[in-house]
Amino acid sequence: MNRVISLSLVAAALAGCATGPGEPAARPGVATLDVRRTAASAKALDEIAAAYVRLSLEIGTHEPGYIDAYYGPPELQKAAEATPRDKQTLLAATRALMAEVDLAARRISDPLAKRRAAFLRAQLRAAETRLLMMQGTRFTFADEAERLFGVRPRLQPLASYDPELAKIEALVPGEGPLADRVEAWLDAFTIPKERLQKTFDAAIARCRGRSMAHIAMPGNESFRLEFVTGKSWSGYNYYQGSYHSLIEVNTDLPIRLSRALDLGCHEGYPGHHLLNMKLEEKLVKERGWTEFGVYPLYSPQSLIAEGSANYGIDLAFPESSKADTERDVLMPIAEIAVPSDDRYWQLLAAIKRASGARLTIAQQYLDGEIDRPTAVALTQKYMLVSPKRAEQSVSFTDQYRSYVINYGLGETMVRAFVERGKPSRDEMWRRMAKIVSEPTLPSDLLVR
Ligand SMILES: [Zn+2]
Repeated sequence: MNRVISLSLVAAALAGCATGPGEPAARPGVATLDVRRTAASAKALDEIAAAYVRLSLEIGTHEPGYIDAYYGPPELQKAAEATPRDKQTLLAATRALMAEVDLAARRISDPLAKRRAAFLRAQLRAAETRLLMMQGTRFTFADEAERLFGVRPRLQPLASYDPELAKIEALVPGEGPLADRVEAWLDAFTIPKERLQKTFDAAIARCRGRSMAHIAMPGNESFRLEFVTGKSWSGYNYYQGSYHSLIEVNTDLPIRLSRALDLGCHEGYPGHHLLNMKLEEKLVKERGWTEFGVYPLYSPQSLIAEGSANYGIDLAFPESSKADTERDVLMPIAEIAVPSDDRYWQLLAAIKRASGARLTIAQQYLDGEIDRPTAVALTQKYMLVSPKRAEQSVSFTDQYRSYVINYGLGETMVRAFVERGKPSRDEMWRRMAKIVSEPTLPSDLLVR
C-alpha cells in the first residue's frame, strides 16, 4: 500500500462522514462548518499559490534557467521582471510564505488539498535553499539534494560498480582502455546526421502511440523538435503551455540509435511533455491551481519529472519491445546495419546498470573529495564514454550540481511506486497517470 492510495481511502471515509446518510440531527451544523473551513483554506492556498508564482518569477530574474517553464498570464511575468525584489528580501518573503502554508495546512482536511499544501511547502523550501545558494551558502551534496529535491540520496561506493565493468569487459574484449573499446564498438550505431530527423520522428511517434493507449491526452497537443549545439545537456523539453512543447536535441556529439526512443519517451511521451500537459489540464485548468503553471527547475518537481521521464522508457517499451522496435523499425530508417545478435542491447543494459556511479562521482566532486580531472577520468571509466562525453557529463554537474540525482534516484523511486506488488500493465499505467496528474512529491512515492 502506498501513501497516495491510503490518502484516497481517507478521502472516501471523510466524504462519507460529511455527507453520508444516517447522520445524527446535530451533524449538519458541523458539516456546514467543515465546508466553510474548507472554502477558507482553499482561498488561503489560492492566495499563497499566487504569491508563490510571483516569488518564483522574481527569483528567476536572479538566475538564468531557474524557471524551467511558465505559462501563466504574461503580464505577471512582465511585472515580476520589471520590479524584482532583491535576494535577501525574497528569502524573507519565502520564509514568511512557508509559515503561511503551515498555518493553512493545519485547517485542511481534504486529502488532495493537503497534498497541494505539502507540495507548496516543499517547493518553497527548495526556493529558500536556492536563494541561500545564490548568496554564497554551500551545502554538502546530500544536504543540497535533500533541500532542493526532497529526498536524501544514499550513494553506493564506486567499487560496487566494478562487477558491471567486468561484464562489459567480457562483452567487448580487446586491448586498450575499456571505455575506448566500448565507444569504438558503439560508433557503428551512430545515426547519420541526415537521418536524424526521420529517425527521431519515427521514435517519438511510437512513444506517443504507446502512451496514448493508456493516458488520455488533450486533442490539440503538439511539440516541435529542433537540433541544437553548444549545450551541456543532450536533450531538453521547453514546455510552452496550451499543450505545446519545444524539444531540443543537442548534436555536439554523435547521436547513437538508443537515444531515439530514450529521448522520445523522456522528453516527450510519457515523459516531460506529457507530465506538463497533465499538470496543466488537471490542476491548472480544471482546479485553478496556478502554482503548477510555473516550474522552478531546482525543486522537488524535478525529481518527479526526471524520474517519471526516465522510468517512462521502460514503461512504454517493456522487456524486449525496445530492442525489437530499434531492430525492426529504427535501424532501417537510420540506415544502420542490423546486428545479427543481441550484444548491442546487452552492452547498453550493462552500461545502464553501471550508470549509478555518476551520482557518486558527482558527490565526490562537488564535496571537494576529488578534483575535476579525476571526476572526468572516473566518468570515462564508469560511464564507459570518450573524454569528450565525460567532459560534457562533468560540465552538466558543474552547471546543475546535485540535480543529477533526479535521473537515477528519481527513476528508482518511480519504478518502485509503479511496480509495487507486481500489478497488471494497465494498473502500472494508472499509477503513472496518477503521478503525472496530481501534486506529487518524492515522499508520496515511498512505499510504507
Ligand atoms: Zn529530463
